[in-house]
Amino acid sequence: MFIRNHCGDYDRVLVFLPCLPAYSNNQIIEDFMPRSLFLLCFLFVIPNMRPSAQEISVSVPILMYHYVREVPVNEGSATWTLDTKTFHQHLDYLDKEGYQTISLYQLDDALRNGTPLPEKPIILTFDDGYSEHYDFVFPLLQRYGMTGTFFIVSNWVGNSSSDSMTWEQLSEMAEAGMSIESHTMSHPDLRNHDEDYLRDEIMGCVDSMESHLGFRPRFFAYPYGGYDAATLAFLETTDILGAVTVQGGSTQRLDKPYEWRRLTVTNQTDLDGLKVLLSRG
Ligand SMILES: [Zn+2]
Repeated sequence: MFIRNHCGDYDRVLVFLPCLPAYSNNQIIEDFMPRSLFLLCFLFVIPNMRPSAQEISVSVPILMYHYVREVPVNEGSATWTLDTKTFHQHLDYLDKEGYQTISLYQLDDALRNGTPLPEKPIILTFDDGYSEHYDFVFPLLQRYGMTGTFFIVSNWVGNSSSDSMTWEQLSEMAEAGMSIESHTMSHPDLRNHDEDYLRDEIMGCVDSMESHLGFRPRFFAYPYGGYDAATLAFLETTDILGAVTVQGGSTQRLDKPYEWRRLTVTNQTDLDGLKVLLSRG
């Protein structure tokens, strides 16, 4: 498999290595082809070999956070809540280890165009638009010089009963360099639905965000990680560039832009848990 390295070049050492012994042995070369033909092959044919889309991937961990607040007792949301002290430890660890936050736009650019990424790239994502993402996460990210990607449920924005951020807060975060992306209109499981339903939920959210924020989100997260063949086929017809799942792993593929992988953070993901997540390919 060809994997783009951090300089944006393809690692294809294995393509060249079998040629080297032949190149150093004139007798073998002349037995099989004139030297000039061999050099032409070496200079033009082999360097122009390009991996197919199926063979291009980059290793970029994408962490998935939900609530970042005091962990509630006896509530279903507890699993998806990371306490603020541990979250702070996560950022501190990533900073000290030399990780550099990037956006999904940079991941997309690296896969499509080979644009170089930092040596240790990482994407921090926050689902559902909870108020503490503005009150606590956003300023802490700024303190570390980091950026985050926030997936928004458009019908929940400004809704105090769902404890969500407002459009004004989201605009402020976008202007400060955070990515504000789409997560459907009402947060349904997208499996087993027809095209009209998918258009309402997915593009309804995108259009609403564009009208309120003045820019069009280009990335998407599946509520509950739920999608099927119809969801993928619908996304192919849209201007959404990529989508993230809840399937674990850090290998992101060019030929599967709607199935990028994420590493799930729960209330059990202490610092050691984070290290385990990041150690998985
Ligand atoms: Zn969600």
